[in-house]
Amino acid sequence: FKLVLPYVKVNVWEDYAELATTYNPVNLGMGYPDFLPPHHIIDALTEVLSSEDVMLQQYTRAEGHPRLVKALAKMYSPSVNRFIDPLEEIITFAGAFGALYCTIMGHIQQGDEVIIIEPFFDCYQSMVIAAGGTPKYIPLRFQDGDATQSSDWVLDFKELDGLFNSKTKAFILNTPHNPFGKVFNKTELLYIAHLCQKWNVMCIADEVYEWLVYEPKRHIKMASLPGMWERTISIGSAGKTHCITGLKVGWAIGPKHLLINLQSGPKLPSSPFAQEAIAIGIEKDLARFGQDDCFQQLLRKSLKLKTDYMVEVLREIVMEPIVPDAGIFLVADWASLEAKVDFSSETGTCKDLQFTKWFIKNVGVQMIPVSIFYSDANKGLGQNLVRLCYIKKDECLQKAANVFREWK
Ligand code: PMP
Ligand code: GLN
Repeated sequence: FKLVLPYVKVNVWEDYAELATTYNPVNLGMGYPDFLPPHHIIDALTEVLSSEDVMLQQYTRAEGHPRLVKALAKMYSPSVNRFIDPLEEIITFAGAFGALYCTIMGHIQQGDEVIIIEPFFDCYQSMVIAAGGTPKYIPLRFQDGDATQSSDWVLDFKELDGLFNSKTKAFILNTPHNPFGKVFNKTELLYIAHLCQKWNVMCIADEVYEWLVYEPKRHIKMASLPGMWERTISIGSAGKTHCITGLKVGWAIGPKHLLINLQSGPKLPSSPFAQEAIAIGIEKDLARFGQDDCFQQLLRKSLKLKTDYMVEVLREIVMEPIVPDAGIFLVADWASLEAKVDFSSETGTCKDLQFTKWFIKNVGVQMIPVSIFYSDANKGLGQNLVRLCYIKKDECLQKAANVFREWK
């Protein structure tokens, strides 16, 4: 017999990976680079795998490989204006996904409400429901601006006030934001912080794209704001910092009294050699931090050029882009092209699902439908939008541009 749990939904990631294998489109779908990680990470991995240190192949400290937690403490202490204790205030996991899962499982119980901003990275919803909690959604709403920037999408503070109550246990904040590339500004963060403190709510700050913010925007860590260190767990990912999503190394940083729930619950650790290699990489990055040859700096600059290029292409074909301030994704409105699409051959609960499937098969570029990042009640808000991942080689983006232009 078939048991359908309430958080089991259609898995678009798997469906679209299968479509990519079958139709071989230019792949701007899932969020990963199509180029090699930086040399210093490849070198570190080679060094670690050929090491005579047998302990790099065996179980390591369950809360996090010592060399990695020490490197992370050095990397993050300045951004939260305090000394982070590597052994008490950091735990590493199999990716940010593992860190999110253990944070949510460790803190959310039956009856707890968790506030999630829409659109959201889809796993938040299923994790909260799997833990027995109830997600409460608040969509980012478009506020008129000169051009469509991600910063024009904002929270309605009154609407936000109305969501907090005595059952609210946690607020999930994703800044920089997937899929919009929005960097929440200080006013927005202070307002969320004020409500978290007023209602004694913890903040789960998913900041995996924090090193990929374009000038002049600046990422502010929620945990750095007054009164927020004590109630925030910050989530990071080496997959994002070092362009190696397959390695699955992530971390949760926060005060001991919050991390303790992550230690006693399910553990999803990463392998010691992966953690050692990332530790070596971070040590190298820290030595040249802020300099022109710092990897994060180079990556940010190259991503900004890639965004600008794709923004121009999308405007040319009249798919109005929401210009991101950070990250690896760009969202665009395809509604003006609707007449060119034959929807009859495609299934899907929302038009963007049908559009993207049709586009993969008949035109040849893979994009992700944005309605999957909304709750059932609000899916309509995403159905004119698609997400494109631009952390790809220039040749790949040019190929996509040619396909778009030819189609137009
Ligand atoms: N959070 C966000 C916002 C993401 O986009 C992703 C996907 N990369 C993750 C967490 C998961 O990161 P990881 O690959 O390290 O598990
Ligand atoms: N975070 C990536 C994305 O949004 C990967 C998705 C996933 O892990 N399923 O594309």
